[in-house]
Amino acid sequence: MAKKVRIEYDTCTACELCYDRIPEVFKSKDDGIADVVKYDIEEDENTKWMIIPEDLEGDVEEVAEECPSGSIIVEEE
Ligand code: SF4
Repeated sequence: MAKKVRIEYDTCTACELCYDRIPEVFKSKDDGIADVVKYDIEEDENTKWMIIPEDLEGDVEEVAEECPSGSIIVEEE
């Protein structure tokens, strides 16, 4: 089953780790807070998911574990 990822904008500390590591999935907003590069599922203004390309799932899960503020949320689609 595919997995999806989103950023918890309120807790992201703009440490740059995720978008430095995986620019295919993460980007920086103007204020340095992370975001996903594409919105596949928009639940509301603060809950925007990207479906993770299959070949990047492992990398995304790894960076989610390394995020110092636990702001990268990965769930089954
Ligand atoms: S790794 Fe975590 S804290 Fe750092 S920019 Fe990405 S979401 Fe924000």
